[in-house]
Amino acid sequence: MSVESPSLREAVSTRRDGESQRGEATPHGHCEHSDHSRDSGTVDDAQAWAAVLRRDRSFDGRFVTGVLTTGIYCRPSCAARHPLRENVRFFADGAAARAAGLRPCKRCSPDDVSRDERAVLAAVRAIKASEEPLALAGLAGDAGYSVAHFQRLFTRATGLSPAAYARALRRERAGEALSGGGRVTDAIYDAGYSGPSRFYADFEARLGMTPSVWRDGGSGVTIHWATVPTSLGRMLVAATDKGVCRLSFDEGVEDLRRRFPNAELVEGGEQFERLLEQVVAAVEAPGLPHAIPLDVRGTAFQEAVWAELRKIPPGETRSYAQIAAAAGKPSAVRAAGSANGANNVAVLIPCHRVIRSDGSLGGYAYGLEIKRQLLERESK
Ligand SMILES: [Zn+2]
Repeated sequence: MSVESPSLREAVSTRRDGESQRGEATPHGHCEHSDHSRDSGTVDDAQAWAAVLRRDRSFDGRFVTGVLTTGIYCRPSCAARHPLRENVRFFADGAAARAAGLRPCKRCSPDDVSRDERAVLAAVRAIKASEEPLALAGLAGDAGYSVAHFQRLFTRATGLSPAAYARALRRERAGEALSGGGRVTDAIYDAGYSGPSRFYADFEARLGMTPSVWRDGGSGVTIHWATVPTSLGRMLVAATDKGVCRLSFDEGVEDLRRRFPNAELVEGGEQFERLLEQVVAAVEAPGLPHAIPLDVRGTAFQEAVWAELRKIPPGETRSYAQIAAAAGKPSAVRAAGSANGANNVAVLIPCHRVIRSDGSLGGYAYGLEIKRQLLERESK
């Protein structure tokens, strides 16, 4: 059988209730072939058993594990010794397991998951409905939990603290309204910001671009660019006055035009040449530290993934599962792969340091040879 997950996953999506998922808001970087299928809400038996074996907390509340020989049911992450697979049956929730004659495990209290989940859901609804930022103490108090415990619970369920969740929600709503072509000030107030100055501060800090740019495909922004030969092949480098916005191999100005259709594209430029020198040096010696400014934008989760990529030390690699976990969503392995693929700035955001968990290289948009060479240079 397959079990349907409860609605928490959908509910904590920063999208508005009843709103359908749009395509990605950002241009795709094709650092690696990305898989756009979303995390499915259903868990099949093989996924469920794999989650049990790794005691994956993110699956708590999505099903319970019934052990026919002991008559007990557990949450997937229960710390008790694993039963034999042949004695296990999965149920959608505690009620279904009890109906089959099983009792809840005293060690992991599987039925408390639904209490926790209800508390998180209630908080998510309150945050979504509120025009003003809500105090954590109030949210925790409503749920009957201590502030610290509730913060942990919420973070584990959504991958973000309540405050970060509220911020991400406001940003995504504003981004949607803006890309829909609405008036900027309307979008700002509709998204729950107290006024334009807060919104612009938040947006600039996160995106390095003003919101009108996001709406109009780069309108009003000057992007300097060049293609240069490197030992890895011809490289395209493009930058706004805030930082590098595109670094790729085997691309030209027409690719840049597609990504930023309304930006003013200028080849070369005095300041840009200085930046370009640093970029070429960083690509030729990818293992050395650099402080090259970047100007990238993405969804909250994409940016979390890119931040984690930048923490991988040269000479080391991570799996997609490790990146997903580090970005706060251990079950979102495929989404982490997509975020990796949406990286616009090759090498400087080192998506080449992510490989398959079996140790094979996986993919790379510019060819495995470049990925292999980058990793080889860094391992010295
Ligand atoms: Zn248990």
